Amino acid sequence: MQGGIAIAGLSPIIVPVFVSNIGCPHRCLFCDQRQFSDPVPPEDVSGIVRNFIASCSIPDKRRRLLAFYGGSFTGIAQDLLEEYLYESSLLLQEGVIHGIKASTRPDMVSPEILSRLKEAGFVELEIGAQSMDDRVLNASERGHSVEHTTRASGLIKASGIKLGIQIMPGLPGEDRESFKNTVDAVVRLDPDCARIYPTVVMQGTGLFKLYKEGGYVPLDLDEAVSRSLYAYIRFTQAGCKVLRMGLPPSHRLKVANGPYHESFGFLVKAKAYRIMVKKLMQSAGSDIHILVHPKDVSELLGYRRNNIEELCFSYSFDKDMPRGYVQLKGATERGCIQLKDIIEYIL
Ligand code: SF4
Repeated sequence: MQGGIAIAGLSPIIVPVFVSNIGCPHRCLFCDQRQFSDPVPPEDVSGIVRNFIASCSIPDKRRRLLAFYGGSFTGIAQDLLEEYLYESSLLLQEGVIHGIKASTRPDMVSPEILSRLKEAGFVELEIGAQSMDDRVLNASERGHSVEHTTRASGLIKASGIKLGIQIMPGLPGEDRESFKNTVDAVVRLDPDCARIYPTVVMQGTGLFKLYKEGGYVPLDLDEAVSRSLYAYIRFTQAGCKVLRMGLPPSHRLKVANGPYHESFGFLVKAKAYRIMVKKLMQSAGSDIHILVHPKDVSELLGYRRNNIEELCFSYSFDKDMPRGYVQLKGATERGCIQLKDIIEYIL
């Protein structure tokens, strides 16, 4: 398998290796550090990566990346960090993987560490911006400012490593205006990829205490879906790939309240189709026949088919339709709508 050439169009294999919160000296208001599993020790990385790749389909033809997740990778103590980098570089040299990525805090990025990561084979670094509003960052006890995120982003871009940005809609002190400003500011950072994690209240956190005292009200699911959809469309339009929306399901998550849903990303995309169909109905009447790409059908129909059951349209699919478009069957260009056309109707 080793050394295969990645073929364009095939999805990459991302091998997650959890380093837990060993690099994090902090305690953000919303963070439940108990949700972290034990960190994978450096000596176990190789076996985990090889086993994971062996279980994937056609691994020879796909790009294979090792991803250190779960903590602030660049904050790991130097000796331990070097052990992780050493194990990773052996995998790179053997051709088992093509590159490495990780996530970290914006205040733990420096030219020196980026140069070391680049040398070790890093191709991507995600930073947890969470918000681009200092009021919100302070209220969330993040311990860093917008300036840290802006500086770290510039350094990462200049290093040639791809930039990923994570944001958390619904943090304490955020309203729609603050959120939209965050999205604007993130777009200006020109990230290559992003993750959108709406804030949920985890038991045992400072946010849980604040919530119990009545000092914090989480977003309801619909508002979280709307804010995420707004960001999803803006980021996508700016050429930034949205890798994930909503926390991945885990038995370790102790969610007390907030907009957690195991199909959150699907809800966001289904809402986009719901808005697009409603817009077409406003111009063409409620008795319409919709045409979409075959891969967009499930999102058109909605979560548990609620779009089609509530809006009552008929539909068919056509593989020649572009992804993300909804067209009235038999209509000209004016009977067609796409994601970017609905941005002003979301928030
Ligand atoms: S920086 Fe990340 S790991 Fe550290 S406390 Fe905050 S959310 Fe948790």
